[in-house]
Amino acid sequence: HADIALYRSKASGRNGFQFYNPTMKTYANERLDKEILLRQALERDEFVLHYQPKLNLDTNQIYGFEALIRWDQKDKGIIGPGAFLQVAEETGLIVPIGEWVIRQACLRCKAWHDAGYSHLTVSVNLSASQFHKHNLEKIIVDALTESGLPSNALELELTESTVMHHPEEAVRTLQQLKKLGISISIDDFGTGFSSLSYLTQFPIDTLKIDQSFIKDVEENQANAAIASAVISLSHSLGLNVVAEGVEKEEEMQFLRFRNCHFVQGYHIAKPMQEEEVFVFLKQLM
Ligand code: C2E
Ligand code: MG
Ligand code: MG
Ligand code: MG
Repeated sequence: HADIALYRSKASGRNGFQFYNPTMKTYANERLDKEILLRQALERDEFVLHYQPKLNLDTNQIYGFEALIRWDQKDKGIIGPGAFLQVAEETGLIVPIGEWVIRQACLRCKAWHDAGYSHLTVSVNLSASQFHKHNLEKIIVDALTESGLPSNALELELTESTVMHHPEEAVRTLQQLKKLGISISIDDFGTGFSSLSYLTQFPIDTLKIDQSFIKDVEENQANAAIASAVISLSHSLGLNVVAEGVEKEEEMQFLRFRNCHFVQGYHIAKPMQEEEVFVFLKQLM
């Protein structure tokens, strides 16, 4: 192949030959470019949070919002987390970015409370490296203190793989966080490879059924079986259960019928800019 040159790799020693592929270099350069851009984005305050409501089907009330990060590249438009979170994670930039997310989300939720919506909660997604940082508790305490938000209005969303990475350490961290009064959700539940026994060992409050299991749940029998099982498991364990990615009335009907009390998804509302939240809340009343 004309594009592939054979070269002697210093790292792999005397006889270590590797194929050098120009696309590899492009990839590495792209990553470096992205890292520099992400650093600048943080300094230039280009990250924004969008908020997606969660609905309580029993009361028919919005009880909280999930904060979802976006990168507002002004001229080039808004970029979703799928396009930059991995680089942020790999470079460690997720830690300062995540700290900004926690502080910002607490400030916004306090603003909702001050405007009369004092029942609302805000949830923040935490990445694995953020969760395993030792100063997480301090970052959260500082964000709560600085904003004046009561701790019971804050919820953290963690995936199974995040907590299972170092289970003993995770139990201790979660216990500390729980002592502060904040709630813990397991996000994308059902997509990890963890054992169910951890559910009883970790002090968690809520399971969020992954959206892949909610899709066409009213007619897809495999999804119906999994969603129903997770709902009854949650009830048996005394946990709350939220269905993610509800896109259709039929899916919501199914969930209502199966006693899943909390739903989130495009059918209720898409994630919205912070200014839209008040408009959304007012229009409900
Ligand atoms: P997630 O926490 O599971 O969030 C749900 C994702 O599904 C969001 O995508 C949301 O916009 C999208 N979604 C909501 N309702 C529907 C629906 O009805 N249909 C479909 N197809 N999608 C729906 P988004 O905002 O692109 O976020 C993707 C993931 O990025 C999140 O998944 C979360 O894991 C991560 N993430 C987002 N914000 C943050 C953050 O501030 N920090 C960290 N560490 N991770 C974040
Ligand atoms: Mg989430
Ligand atoms: Mg999820
Ligand atoms: Mg996800």
